[in-house]
Amino acid sequence: MSILVVLEAQAGGLKRTSCEAITAALSVAGSSAITGVIFNGAQEQFAAAGAYGLSKVLNISGDEWTSIPSARMAAAISDAAVSIGASLVVFGANSFGKNVAPRVSVRLSAGFLPDCVALSGTAGSVEATRPVYAGKALVNVTSTTSTTVATLRPNLFTAKNISGGEAASESFVPTSASSLPTMRVTSVTRNEGQLDVSEADIIVSGGRGLKAPEHFNLIEGLAKSLGAAVGASRAVVDAGWRPHREQVGQTGKTVSPTMYVACGISGAVQHLAGMSSSKIIVAINKDKDAPIFSVADYGIVGDVFEVLPRLTGAISAITGKN
Ligand SMILES: Cc1cc2nc3c(=O)[nH]c(=O)nc-3n(C[C@H](O)[C@H](O)[C@H](O)COP(=O)(O)OP(=O)(O)OC[C@H]3O[C@@H](n4cnc5c(N)ncnc54)[C@H](O)[C@@H]3O)c2cc1C
Repeated sequence: MSILVVLEAQAGGLKRTSCEAITAALSVAGSSAITGVIFNGAQEQFAAAGAYGLSKVLNISGDEWTSIPSARMAAAISDAAVSIGASLVVFGANSFGKNVAPRVSVRLSAGFLPDCVALSGTAGSVEATRPVYAGKALVNVTSTTSTTVATLRPNLFTAKNISGGEAASESFVPTSASSLPTMRVTSVTRNEGQLDVSEADIIVSGGRGLKAPEHFNLIEGLAKSLGAAVGASRAVVDAGWRPHREQVGQTGKTVSPTMYVACGISGAVQHLAGMSSSKIIVAINKDKDAPIFSVADYGIVGDVFEVLPRLTGAISAITGKN
């Protein structure tokens, strides 16, 4: 089966979600029929793609492909999928994948499997496991369309660096995107230095138990000592204590970090929907019956105002980060 893996560049190589997508595609198809596609790729991206097992990457390059809207990206990726006769197109289920993948599936009249936690199958019969009902259940689904588009939940498919040689880059010129209206993103405001929860390996999240926005310095302190991103429950985002980009849960971001530390968060089903697939969950709550403890691997029944400073001090002493 021919598979197209949609790659996203970051400084020095590829985003982790892209490396995970390559590994997942390899497990579906073996090594022979997988091609990557990237916008404005460079040598460091081709090297990373090769290291994870791709032998060929279609490179859509040029100024006209910088800061373009999702509809044009989707058209270009669809062209690439058609050009290789892809039976499966794979994205990471991060904000880029969630935005662009459904558009690609519409353009290709393809079955759409979002947020997969397992993927297998053959051409015309792609099987996936995906969470439903805010993560309360998992369903196994089979897409039987000739092309299927899938997005993979980040951090569940362990990316395997197999030390392959650099992938060959092939210039690819999409044609159908040119018929779309042009529009460009002219500026992006970035929060430099802050890790994004959807990419982070460790997340420290705070909830209403912190009592006031200024007490989030305790969350930031623990996050710094661990090299973690800061997350938040919806209650504190709605209260204006924290920005929406930090919200974890059903109406926020879905995360699967190696470790998730929930501080002063009750564990409402909508919060659990976004983080219960984390590998290790640590909960700090003064109510021993708080629902968060039902999903926690480690629980501390205690007051965040006492526990967090002590925990941060002990971890900083080990990591040297404070
Ligand atoms: C359609 C819909 C979508 C939603 N989407 C989301 C979503 O994406 N993400 C999300 O998080 N929520 C979401 N919610 C809201 C969700 O139902 C909860 O209201 C919210 O998660 C509660 O946030 P919280 O745990 O911070 O606050 P609370 O439920 O008020 O819990 C605070 C916790 O802090 C503990 N606590 C208090 N003081 C201390 C202390 N000193 N030390 C230690 N612990 C302390 C308490 O025991 C309590 O368990 C959604 C709701 C709906 C209806």
